[in-house]
Amino acid sequence: MVIELAEILSNEQIAQGIWRMSMHAPKVAADYVGPGQFINLLTDDNWDHLVRRPMSIAFVKDDAVDIIYKIFGEMTDQFSRKNSGDTMNILGHLGNVFSDWDRQDKEPVLIGGGVGLAPILNLYELCTDAVLIMGARTAAEHFMKHEPENHIYLTTDDGSSGIDGNVLTALNEIDLHENSIIYACGPELMLLAVQKFAVEKNARAQLSVESYMGCGVGLCQGCVIERQNGQVMKHSYHEKYSLVCLDGPVYECDEIIFG
Ligand SMILES: Cc1cc2nc3c(=O)[nH]c(=O)nc-3n(C[C@H](O)[C@H](O)[C@H](O)COP(=O)(O)OP(=O)(O)OC[C@H]3O[C@@H](n4cnc5c(N)ncnc54)[C@H](O)[C@@H]3O)c2cc1C
Repeated sequence: MVIELAEILSNEQIAQGIWRMSMHAPKVAADYVGPGQFINLLTDDNWDHLVRRPMSIAFVKDDAVDIIYKIFGEMTDQFSRKNSGDTMNILGHLGNVFSDWDRQDKEPVLIGGGVGLAPILNLYELCTDAVLIMGARTAAEHFMKHEPENHIYLTTDDGSSGIDGNVLTALNEIDLHENSIIYACGPELMLLAVQKFAVEKNARAQLSVESYMGCGVGLCQGCVIERQNGQVMKHSYHEKYSLVCLDGPVYECDEIIFG
């Protein structure tokens, strides 16, 4: 894990409220393990913002690390005001990774919604035969095309493009095979619905959880999530709770309970 002052290579709006930033971060890129991992960012080295903001790694190519972010509040708004040549202070890499997506006998079904698009797109780039479902409120928030013939399904809450409904509507429409594994990242309500779906269908699912988070390194204890199995995990001393920053953000769906 390193702290790196990364120069911004590009920072562009790719859909309504959604931006992609590419940063020159050779140290973080060199340590990067795979989809699921995240970095914790500060825009400036001053007292205005003490707490970093976690962002999943969307892509790593050579020395460049990319994020895809949604403007939520003050800090992500500041992200969007940064220009090429400006810097970002990165702490990373952090977190664990999605697993078993590369098994020949498995079919990955990838689901991303809201701020959860980045790790899912990262994983999609690596998968050869995956189903991709991306959810948004409206067409303007999508930056990909609805292509059912290529197993890419977009959904919109207002029906303005793709499937009218949410990612669960799409998930119910596709044929889930015995060997499918669901990988999902998005708002808690979405993850809860995917978890329920997976339990009902007896399907395996890995969920990447985007809880509130402070330090990202297990000190502040701000990102706890309740655990189902009660076992002590590698990094966390809680029996009942897990720290998303150290034990996650990726969990098997039967490992956690949403509050
Ligand atoms: C491991 C991890 C990976 C993430 N990856 C991404 C990513 O790739 N792209 C992306 O756009 N976002 C991602 N997020 C969420 C992102 O960190 C928050 O949206 C961001 O911190 C908001 O900061 P802000 O200063 O703009 O908003 P704030 O001013 O801090 O918050 C504005 C409002 O947003 C809500 N909010 C803020 N943070 C969260 C949160 N973590 N969960 C739920 N609600 C929240 C609160 O209601 C708050 O009032 C990730 C979060 C985690 C924990």
